Amino acid sequence: MKPAWSILPEEWKGILSEKGLRSFRADQILHSLYRDYITNWDQATTLPKDFREALKTEFPLTSAETLDVSESSDGTKKLLIGFADGNSVETVLIPATGRFTQCISTQVGCGMGCAFCASGAQGVVRSLTADEIVAEYMAGRRLGEITNIVVMGMGEPFANYDETMRALKLINAGKGPNLGARHITISTCGVVPGFERLASEGIQFELSVSLHAPNDELRSQLMPVNRRWPLDELLPACAAYTNRTKRVITFEYTVIKDVNDSRECAEELARQVRRVPMAKVNLIPLSPVSHRPDFKTPDDSTMLMFLDVLMKHHVQTMLRRSRGKDADAACGQLRLRHVNGVAR
Ligand code: SAH
Repeated sequence: MKPAWSILPEEWKGILSEKGLRSFRADQILHSLYRDYITNWDQATTLPKDFREALKTEFPLTSAETLDVSESSDGTKKLLIGFADGNSVETVLIPATGRFTQCISTQVGCGMGCAFCASGAQGVVRSLTADEIVAEYMAGRRLGEITNIVVMGMGEPFANYDETMRALKLINAGKGPNLGARHITISTCGVVPGFERLASEGIQFELSVSLHAPNDELRSQLMPVNRRWPLDELLPACAAYTNRTKRVITFEYTVIKDVNDSRECAEELARQVRRVPMAKVNLIPLSPVSHRPDFKTPDDSTMLMFLDVLMKHHVQTMLRRSRGKDADAACGQLRLRHVNGVAR
């Protein structure tokens, strides 16, 4: 038994033959899976019934049930996706002009423990398998054509490297969902071994690195991962990545009022980022999280000051809006509410 959504398009023929099933059916299978977006094999009506029965036993379609939807006034939808073992993750759908972005999760919870992040507040329960990640994508895909994926949901993708990469390769595959690699952004908190691995894949996925602090003292307070891989390891790894792949790295910097929002922080951030060729910065105002009421969103003037300092240092910088606030779309909060059993 092998979950259908863990099989890359080019592997189907071989796998069918191994099972003594007719391999010429591979294209019909792919069509059903990735053009018709079936949720169970009975819907694959182009295939003979006995063949569908064989597929059911050999290649089950991983169940990923939408347990809850919350919709924000800006059109952002957040789905709670439940898996067979009762665990759940969140995926967020974000409409914008000419775009429909899905933010996907790679783990149930997160083990990285960043202070400002709701997903980290309860630790990691388990990693998702590739087919679960694809099933999560499918739940979003059924609501509209996804143009972009950001791996910025729950979990640390480089702590679940193999399964995440398999799922993304599948979603990227021409005979699969065929979503362009440049439309898929992987975000890491800085798990250094992941950079070299990703560079060696030779696939043009976009890479974001969550920085959030310009020096080790502050970064280690906010992000425990920094104690394992401090800036003097992280930034050279980023530079090696951009040099080797000639691809941009985007540093994410969540601005937290009175924590990492001073002019000195902005100046220091500019200096650090310039150690990495082809680096950009995204500035994001903190989304408040219930477990840290002391962390507050900065004023617009602070965001503009940060932007101004970085631009003066010739760092390419974008100010990002926070989307879906009234849908609890800020990072792990929908699941947190379910796990805690708070009535809606
Ligand atoms: N583990 C990966 C991906 C998941 S987090 C990573 O750390 O990059 C996706 C992004 O959301 C990260 O940049 C993360 O730091 C940010 N984030 C988490 N909690 C946030 C909050 N409360 N407000 C704003 N951004 C937050």
